[in-house]
Amino acid sequence: MGKIKAFFQQRKNTTQFQLMVRFVSLLVSSIVVLSIAIMGITIAELYESTEEQAELLEESLKKNEEQGAAEWQIDLANYDSSYLIRVGLNTGETVYSSDDAQELYTEFPRLKQLILFDRILWTNKMEPYYYTSFKKEKVNITLLVDMEDQFGVIGRIFSLTLLLTVIVIIIGAFVTYRFSRKISQSLVKMNEEISQLESSAIEQRLTVPKTPLEVQNISQSFNELLEKQRRSLKREQQFVTDASHELRTPLAAIRGHVNLIKRRGNTHPEVIPTSLKYIDTESKRMETLVEQLLSLGRLTNQTGLEEVDLSSLIHQTITELNVMRTQKLTLQIEEGIFITGQNEHFYQIARNLIENAMKYTEDTGTIGVKLISSAHNIQLIVEDSGIGISNEEKEKIFERFYRVDQSRSSKISGSGIGLSIVKELVELYQGDITVTDRKPSGTRFTVSFIVNHEK
Ligand code: ADP
Repeated sequence: MGKIKAFFQQRKNTTQFQLMVRFVSLLVSSIVVLSIAIMGITIAELYESTEEQAELLEESLKKNEEQGAAEWQIDLANYDSSYLIRVGLNTGETVYSSDDAQELYTEFPRLKQLILFDRILWTNKMEPYYYTSFKKEKVNITLLVDMEDQFGVIGRIFSLTLLLTVIVIIIGAFVTYRFSRKISQSLVKMNEEISQLESSAIEQRLTVPKTPLEVQNISQSFNELLEKQRRSLKREQQFVTDASHELRTPLAAIRGHVNLIKRRGNTHPEVIPTSLKYIDTESKRMETLVEQLLSLGRLTNQTGLEEVDLSSLIHQTITELNVMRTQKLTLQIEEGIFITGQNEHFYQIARNLIENAMKYTEDTGTIGVKLISSAHNIQLIVEDSGIGISNEEKEKIFERFYRVDQSRSSKISGSGIGLSIVKELVELYQGDITVTDRKPSGTRFTVSFIVNHEK
């Protein structure tokens, strides 16, 4: 018993069980409604036919000539034993159709009436009788028709219904349990697969069933989510590896120079200024790198949106960078261009692009910054007459820590992280960044954002 209870307790919240319960209750209630209807009609029919019998009997009794007790006795004996007749003569005598009738009529005042059908009476032994009484001149006639056979039929119908209901419950429960298992099986299987999944195993995915469609959709969405998670996990892992590698290089250089000063500082003090210069440059490089890494971490945080005055922001960035600029600068900044986002994000985009243009262009070269807007988009164009980027490198420069060999080996400082920050930020605002050659030499970076007029 305890086991059965535990079984139901455990399964009562499953789709399979709930479907089964609903299906069986639906079946049982339809059977009950149908049976009540059939029984109601049968009872009404039987009642009507008994009523008709009683009426026929009444007519036949009324046809009797006026007579005494003895004649009535003979007359009544001819009737069927299921009719229990009592005749009260005006002489005070009472005649019964049979001994059974006489016995029943002694009980008559104690018989009970049925609620809806008040012409049906019940004895203490639960025997049903149809009752009617009438007068024939001065003779009182009471008639009771035995309805045991009719009620027997009703009883049989009732038992049959009960049996049918039980059979339906048993078979229905079994069939629906099996049927609904098919539906819930895919969910159970999916759950098993999920618990067996290892987040790192790239090739592991959920099986997508053909049916039911809902489960198919869930497993497809789950697989997509899984893929996204894995990709971002991989990116993070790559980032940590790259970052530690990049930090290790300046650290090793710093330590090398510190050791050099320790070993030879006393005997060869002329190495000290050179080593200090290296330490200064490398530690600055580290500082910039750490700052850039930190800002990368903050990238995806898109809270605190505001209306950013992009035109003023570009002017401000250029003013800030002017101290290190040696090249000629041409500006074409449309005033009053606003964009929704975070000030810091657009500053990073502009600063990195303009700083790069300055870094990778000779002193005598030119730099151009344009900010233009149209009905559908805003464009920031930063171009220079500098060293340019070959077609093979154009895609790679947006990768984290990627530096074109030429610039890495040259004296231009950098970590290779600036453009990856720019790209991620641009994409955060559903924007687009492209890099093209500028004629006759140099590079052009074009950033465009779609303007949403609905806001
Ligand atoms: P960093 O400038 O710190 O090296 P970035 O991510 O900003 O890193 O740029 C990646 C690489 O792309 C640079 O190392 C450089 O080789 C190339 N690059 C970027 N901007 C320009 C430019 N305006 N002209 C030529 N090369 C560029």
